[in-house]
Amino acid sequence: MNLILMGLPGAGKGTQAEKIVEKYDIPHISTGDMFRSAIKEGTDLGKQAKSYMDDGALVPDEVTIGIVRERLSKPDCKKGFLLDGFPRTLEQAEALEDLLGDMETSLDYVLHISVPENKLVERLTGRRVCPECGATYHIQFNPPATPGKCDQDGASLIQREDDQPETVKNRLAVNVEQAQPLLDFYGEKGYLATVEGDKDIDDVFVDIDSRLQRLS
Ligand SMILES: [Zn+2]
Repeated sequence: MNLILMGLPGAGKGTQAEKIVEKYDIPHISTGDMFRSAIKEGTDLGKQAKSYMDDGALVPDEVTIGIVRERLSKPDCKKGFLLDGFPRTLEQAEALEDLLGDMETSLDYVLHISVPENKLVERLTGRRVCPECGATYHIQFNPPATPGKCDQDGASLIQREDDQPETVKNRLAVNVEQAQPLLDFYGEKGYLATVEGDKDIDDVFVDIDSRLQRLS
């Protein structure tokens, strides 16, 4: 079961990823984790990646793809994998096609959790943080007992710069621009499975699961 998980920030990718890997026993492979473990293991590619990151530079595709190749060759990927955060560009997507071809396998699904942008703005701007103890709340999904006050210490909750509407909208716009060519690419290849993400977490998983059951 070879999967890619896509979705904008706030679409609930992390939650669904947890449910998928738990039920189907495949590793959740995020780009960040992949880089961290390659660097920790001190592989040649890990060392190369680290030197770019230490310089504050973007890691070139050939290094990233090499790290993906090493990761997907590990024994825990025998039953498949759930890629998250890779590929980010068309070049990477094409390289992944070649890589899977070399491994005599292919993608099964590119799961795309789709949530209307106005809903994402609602989700992403609702977070409130306590400046005293760091507790986080959400005005809609996890509100404090008294609006605007921390349950622990009564301090006035604040909205982080990152969670303010303009910042959130800009972040979403950048992500949409980056994701669209990939969605088109995978749509043409017939891998794209779009799942409506604007509903209860468990209902979203029912939809994902009904697709995945056809594979196993
Ligand atoms: Zn507090």
